[in-house]
Amino acid sequence: MTDLAVVPLIERKKRGGELAEEELRALLDGYVAGRVPDYQLAAWLMAVCWRGMGEAETLAMTRAMVASGEVLDWEGIGRPTVDKHSTGGVGDKTSIVLVPLMAAAGAAFVKMSGRGLGHTGGTLDKLEAIPGFRVEIEPGRMRRQVERTGAALVGQSPALVPADGKLYALRDVTATVDSVPLIAGSIMSKKLAGGARSIVLDVKWGSGAFMTTLEEARELARTLVRIGAGAGRATRAVLSSMREPLGRAVGNALEVREAIDTLHGRGPADLWALTLELGTHLLLMSGLAADADAARALLTRLRDDGSGARKLAELVEAQDGDPRVVDDPSLLATAPVVHTVAMDGAGPRWVARADARAVGDAALALGAGRRAKGDPIDPSVGIVMRARIGDRLEPGAPLADVHARDEAGARRAEADLRAAFSFSAEPVAAPKDAYEVIG
Ligand code: URA
Repeated sequence: MTDLAVVPLIERKKRGGELAEEELRALLDGYVAGRVPDYQLAAWLMAVCWRGMGEAETLAMTRAMVASGEVLDWEGIGRPTVDKHSTGGVGDKTSIVLVPLMAAAGAAFVKMSGRGLGHTGGTLDKLEAIPGFRVEIEPGRMRRQVERTGAALVGQSPALVPADGKLYALRDVTATVDSVPLIAGSIMSKKLAGGARSIVLDVKWGSGAFMTTLEEARELARTLVRIGAGAGRATRAVLSSMREPLGRAVGNALEVREAIDTLHGRGPADLWALTLELGTHLLLMSGLAADADAARALLTRLRDDGSGARKLAELVEAQDGDPRVVDDPSLLATAPVVHTVAMDGAGPRWVARADARAVGDAALALGAGRRAKGDPIDPSVGIVMRARIGDRLEPGAPLADVHARDEAGARRAEADLRAAFSFSAEPVAAPKDAYEVIG
């Protein structure tokens, strides 16, 4: 596409008009091929941020993004294909619990995940805390693994939706990330290219999430579900709170340990509740359970009889990791310094705030995350929350354990964690695990 052809498209979007699917394809294919320059794409992105996109145009853009690369074909896999996406948060290790349970239930689950950036963690970094675990496996091997085990936990293939990687990098440096159609197109293009027939989306809201208010999260969830339905996939979104971290552990090896504990039936209640909720929708959408009660009972049985934990060990071994970690999590890396942060001042007091964003930032500062793409991370460090919103605490009660590389890091994290908590002299209601479902 020449400059002359691109300018009218930008002009139309600037005035609030819509682009047709062929035009969006020409624009995005031209960009991926290097024929359309950054400055023109940036101008179009900014026009989208201001003018938005209707339902049909958002679906057309998503399809154009999918068409920029390969689409996985699971024909003949012999199991219903499912997928899940979380919009990202602090302490979110749900996939490490859900994927083996769904595979044990008879689904084919290829979970393509990302790395952590900033205060949010990434499933790939968590998995790499398992000694030897490989998140890059070649396509033929991945297919054979899914046929044999029912799942794979891998990095996003660069062959799928190349437009998204390039577009996201440009959005990042042009203040055009926070647009619902652009976010929805980015997420759903990757899900559609992944090829699963049933998709559940965990759309998080709260301080630790991409969308800080419930209303913003709802808007994103509706858009994601419309795109999925428009593309012929069974799609549901579950809105879940990210005001405080999910579970107790924040940090890579600590989160893997908590996921393993959850598969052994001794994990935190909120993590198990979310796993059950997401798994129930996937089992219903894929026809593996007749109703919600049967789905919950199946997931609980697969946890309680050890099938989920055995399946995780099988997946870890299939991807060159040490499967012994599932029975002996002490094989995971541990930090040399563990320091407990306790509540000071008078009591009793109730926890009113345990800010997910601030806890995520404290874990990042300890070395559990990366500030810039490609930064190294330390799998052993992080935070284990000991108090949650609504807890009644006496003076000296533990708030959190800091797992640090050294004493100086532990002291900095202590100050960060103190700022993450607020207390009330009056009782505070604990948040309920009630999820809003869209789709
Ligand atoms: N996650 C994505 O995959 N894309 C976005 O644009 C935002 C969050």
